Amino acid sequence: MEYSNQLEAKSAELTRTARQLRAANEKLTQMSVQKDAFLSQISHELRTPMTSIRAFSEILRDGGLDDAALAKYAGIIHDEAIRLTRLLDDLLDLSVLENGQVSLNERVGKIGDVLNQAVAAAGIENSRLRVVRSKVREDLMIYTDLDRLSQVFINLISNALKYCDAARPRLEVSIRDLGDTLAIDFIDNGSGIPMASQDVIFEKFSRVGSDQAAGGAGLGLAICREIMHRLGGTVSYLPGQGGGAFRVILPVTVVRSGR
Ligand code: ADP
Repeated sequence: MEYSNQLEAKSAELTRTARQLRAANEKLTQMSVQKDAFLSQISHELRTPMTSIRAFSEILRDGGLDDAALAKYAGIIHDEAIRLTRLLDDLLDLSVLENGQVSLNERVGKIGDVLNQAVAAAGIENSRLRVVRSKVREDLMIYTDLDRLSQVFINLISNALKYCDAARPRLEVSIRDLGDTLAIDFIDNGSGIPMASQDVIFEKFSRVGSDQAAGGAGLGLAICREIMHRLGGTVSYLPGQGGGAFRVILPVTVVRSGR
């Protein structure tokens, strides 16, 4: 009797182990498929700028161009090389963030200063984008990785610049103190994102419709999501606002003396 009980227990254990092995195998297959898809997306993204660099450098090499054409083609090569560098920087940043290898540099600062710095760095100075700040608690002190938070703001502001109404470009930013969290909203007056795409845009390489013309590789929001995750907060799409609208939630390890 004892022996048959032992046999039964062993058999149950073997069944369990077999099930675990099958699950691990399925997971590995799934990871391998994801890795292949990722590599093929990367190759595609790298190929586009590389093809132009190759084509235009061949034209330069063949010579016989006047100064204007020379400057034009050299300019294209330069722009494509910058795009390539940005793409590689973003890929590296995303991979470091995803693997949790990034160390945070947390310090105390004013939320208003982080926003000012992001507005200045978002490349809007030569644009007509009007940044309207409402309900912004400029003086609120926060304790977080201010540079990483600024990176999220810069991404959202430069997206607003790319996708807002070109005739009357406008972005409204608000910061509200919700007690345990801060809600920072970025709402532009562009055409926004269709309901069906509102979740996917945070995935790597996702772009909506024909936005490839805007030149991005679809990594910006994926990076924002990873950063906010590391900062203990979130970034999400805010539906029903008319234009493109994003909400950043930051947990408040706020230094309350700023109140
Ligand atoms: P990209 O570098 O292509 O802009 P992102 O990850 O920042 O990549 O954005 C992904 C996609 O989400 C964009 O290609 C665009 O289709 C859409 N998107 C992002 N921000 C906005 C916005 N403010 N308004 C409309 N669409 C947006």
